Amino acid sequence: MSVSQNLQTLKASLKPGVRLVAVSKTMPVSVLREAYDAGQRHFGENKVQEITLKQPEMPQDVLWHFIGHLQTNKVKYIAPFVHLIESVDSLKLLKEIDKQGARNQCVINCLLQFYIAGEETKFGLDRAEAQSLMEVVQTEKMNHIAILGVMGMASFTDDQAQIRNEFKQLKGHFNWLKNEWFAKDERFCEISMGMSGDYQIAMEEGSTNVRIGSSVFGARVYSK
Ligand SMILES: *Cc1c(COP(=O)(O)O)cnc(C)c1O
Repeated sequence: MSVSQNLQTLKASLKPGVRLVAVSKTMPVSVLREAYDAGQRHFGENKVQEITLKQPEMPQDVLWHFIGHLQTNKVKYIAPFVHLIESVDSLKLLKEIDKQGARNQCVINCLLQFYIAGEETKFGLDRAEAQSLMEVVQTEKMNHIAILGVMGMASFTDDQAQIRNEFKQLKGHFNWLKNEWFAKDERFCEISMGMSGDYQIAMEEGSTNVRIGSSVFGARVYSK
């Protein structure tokens, strides 16, 4: 199957209103181009070096989502062009994004990444950490960030009930944030969850933004 056929099939399987982010990590620009030519505009990358190499090679109307762990000292490289940083997992990082937004005279869209998997290896906030982060956001004027919602990754498992439960947890975090801090902020409406293997469950549990790599581009081959 070609990239454009994969995209067509996938899009037909999305619930209305759910955004598809094509996760293009490890893929060459020629392959991203195929997706772009098929109409895809939202692309997801998880490494700063890779996204900054690809961005100038792609048309300027691509909407770049950063979905990987982001080191504070690298925010400056993606701030000038990034559409949405989905992986904000600390106050320190959020403050740096605000600073770089100011420097670039723009507002940088962010999602708060929550830890929902039963796996130690994944990044993300828990509710207590999100609470203290929000207390600071509330008091300090951060005019160069906009928090649009939450992001999370479920465990890598065949246990569908567990995956569903983890997505329910994320939805719970979203509802809590919405009620406590964003009741009057219409921009706060995004729940980014679901990948190739679990996006159907994620949509059933309220996802607004699915991040799909291998079902669009085929399996990734990691060299080295
Ligand atoms: C790689 C990645 C995806 C896409 O994974 P697939 O299983 O290839 O669809 C989604 N989200 C994040 C954060 C990723 O790193």
